[in-house]
Amino acid sequence: MLQDYFADMHIHIGRDIFDKPVKITASKNLTITTILKEASRNKGIHLIGVIDCQSPAVQLELKQLIDKGEAIELADGGIRFEDVTLLLGSEIEVYDEHCQGPIHVLCYLPSLAQMEQFSEWLVTKMKNITLSSQRYYGSAKELQYKVKELSGIFIPAHVFTPYKSLYGKGVHHSLEEVFDPDLIDGIELGLSADTFMADQISELHTFTYLTNSDAHSLAKIGREYQQVLMEEPSFKEFTYVLHQIDGRRIIRNFGMNPKLGKYHKTVCDDCHSYMEVNALACANCGSRKIVKGVADRIAEIADQKERIQTRPSYQYQVPLEYLPKLGPKTFQKLMDHFQTEMAIIHHASYDSLRKIVPEQIAKSIIQMREGKLTINAGGGGKYGTVSALE
Ligand SMILES: [Zn+2]
Ligand SMILES: [Zn+2]
Repeated sequence: MLQDYFADMHIHIGRDIFDKPVKITASKNLTITTILKEASRNKGIHLIGVIDCQSPAVQLELKQLIDKGEAIELADGGIRFEDVTLLLGSEIEVYDEHCQGPIHVLCYLPSLAQMEQFSEWLVTKMKNITLSSQRYYGSAKELQYKVKELSGIFIPAHVFTPYKSLYGKGVHHSLEEVFDPDLIDGIELGLSADTFMADQISELHTFTYLTNSDAHSLAKIGREYQQVLMEEPSFKEFTYVLHQIDGRRIIRNFGMNPKLGKYHKTVCDDCHSYMEVNALACANCGSRKIVKGVADRIAEIADQKERIQTRPSYQYQVPLEYLPKLGPKTFQKLMDHFQTEMAIIHHASYDSLRKIVPEQIAKSIIQMREGKLTINAGGGGKYGTVSALE
């Protein structure tokens, strides 16, 4: 029987079991074990992808959890821990001969044994596999072949961000120049783009879109996610979701309003004031360093204006921490009562919220659920903000 689940497939690791850094810019308390606990106990997310699992010390920590009986490997792929299932992933930086800059891609493998094989191979292609998102020396297609040889999933990451993405900047290349499109299982939109923006690029129409958090801290897990229909959370079922097999599919994408993304508007890289797309220099400080916003970039490379009708709905949402007046104490009260963030965001009724928090906060949670909050745009590496309700 098909049921719906929440999934966030892009989460980083800060430290390994020896307290060595994995993603250097990520929070120190972000370990594979704390991520599993947070997703299961506090977020209420059923399927997660952790994309630093090529690191051998992370694999060791997982083996210890399995040996202690706290986690089990599933026959259909993935590792179950309490109420969450983990898919083992790896974010990799590719420099193809066609790319002008680095491109990030996400690779997921069914089992620890396959991830270990992948790591053994990556050692020959990378300088340091213990760290996150490292540069891979080889072509993107060769990487795709390896992932497929190991029965894996391959997804270009945050494809529109100005840095480290397929469409981000420079000369526009088609997907086919860089990748084998038949070996792509989905497209990750990234925080500054939504379904409607991405559908303006016709070569993306056949792919499933993913909305993931790219979390560098426990709090950010689930700032973007999707609701998926499948039999149970497992690697095999998730591949069915991506290819819409036997009714499995994404029902809804939950993304932040693109205006909240830190690369939404075109801005000056030096003083962060807004700029016209075609301006040669910043009117405020005269700098010529321009960071093109995602919306302006998509408008530049768009080749299709009509809406595609067959997409899952894309619902704008903000993390609870973005809501005005919802401080740590109130947040804890809500968690004590409703257990998980997903329960607060999706299931708690207005009346039940109203018993725990003031009217204004209860209202803003419901308004958030309905996508009715006012958003101030971000840009040039700064996040947008949510306005307080009148
Ligand atoms: Zn990335
Ligand atoms: Zn990432």
